[in-house]
Amino acid sequence: APLFQKSPVMHKPLKTGDVIGILGGGQLGRMLSIAAAKLGLRTHIYEPSADPPAADVAHRVITAPYEDGSALIAFAKSVDVVTYEFENIPTTALDILEQHTAIHPAREALRVSQDRLIEKTYLNDLGLKTAPFAAVNSFETLTSAISEIGTAAILKTRRLGYDGKGQVRLTDASDPFEIWQRFEGLDMILEGYVAFSHEISVIGARSTCGDIACFDPGENFHRNGILHTTTIPARLSASQRTDAILLTAKIMNALDYVGVMGVELFVTPQGLIVNEIAPRVHNSGHWTQNGCAVDQFEQHIRAVAQWPLGDGSRHSNVVMENLIGTDIYRAEDLAKDNNVALHLYGKSDVKPGRKMGHFNRISAKD
Ligand code: ATP
Ligand code: MG
Repeated sequence: APLFQKSPVMHKPLKTGDVIGILGGGQLGRMLSIAAAKLGLRTHIYEPSADPPAADVAHRVITAPYEDGSALIAFAKSVDVVTYEFENIPTTALDILEQHTAIHPAREALRVSQDRLIEKTYLNDLGLKTAPFAAVNSFETLTSAISEIGTAAILKTRRLGYDGKGQVRLTDASDPFEIWQRFEGLDMILEGYVAFSHEISVIGARSTCGDIACFDPGENFHRNGILHTTTIPARLSASQRTDAILLTAKIMNALDYVGVMGVELFVTPQGLIVNEIAPRVHNSGHWTQNGCAVDQFEQHIRAVAQWPLGDGSRHSNVVMENLIGTDIYRAEDLAKDNNVALHLYGKSDVKPGRKMGHFNRISAKD
């Protein structure tokens, strides 16, 4: 036997017909299911609401609330491994699932990313920069946070925010009492406003053996608090690009992470500042579907299925654009464009702010 053996890693790659359980049946669960099917794997979707986008393409759908213990147990027993498309899974559901099956990414990634206060503290402890922040849970803590951080700040709910929901931007003119009343009873965080030149994100992946592959950082542009476009390549110097990838690897290693992670970053003259991490495939990684041989969805499936990872390299420049609400009516015209790949989520109800699909416009790699 070799003198120096690596710590034994359980290596049992999923094989044809094996099942990945996915918590959440939205567009991310849908695209994960498509990726799994391409590798000969099946998915079972666990989703409280009826007829979710993933139902069209999954092997099986379980419609039950996250509080239904027996449905969770039956789900866990019907799959080989569990993953998820969103980070706000109730802890009680995870407690039950964990007794019957492996969950990737593991609990720690959820604990850290579910709460903005814990997340920023964790990142700072790793030596990474975040916006200055302070916990707020009363009018008194709000006023003291404002005197510490200033009024160039954003007040956010600690938990359950997405697409800019649960946030309010403060200004000199803001009345702290009026703002406090709007959020009374919620645990909040006040974040200093970061004067960034632009926003980027890294989509990284880590396998059960600790291998890491990151996609090229993309540059993100938001409109009305929702991601509008991701452009590849991002405007970054070589050292900024390396820094972005290394800090993503640092976070994934610290969490002993398995799967794909999105890391949102602000680019500033003082360096990269971490906005937030998402322990899942990420909207700003949708460009990989048409820019890379192995996209973020397949990469995530490979990681949780204990397959080798793709190397993350890209063959094209890409601009990804979200189709929000009535943007979906552009699909017919976009379909006439030869350099455009459409990805529609099969949602029949068009609602303002609802993500209906996206498209990737590809061009020669520069
Ligand atoms: P998403 O679901 O799109 O990730 P979210 O609701 O989790 O959004 P954040 O990522 O915290 O919210 O914020 C959304 C956007 O608001 C950021 O991408 C950025 O443009 C802006 N923003 C948030 N926090 C700050 C900050 N501290 N300084 C400057 N801009 C910020
Ligand atoms: Mg965000």
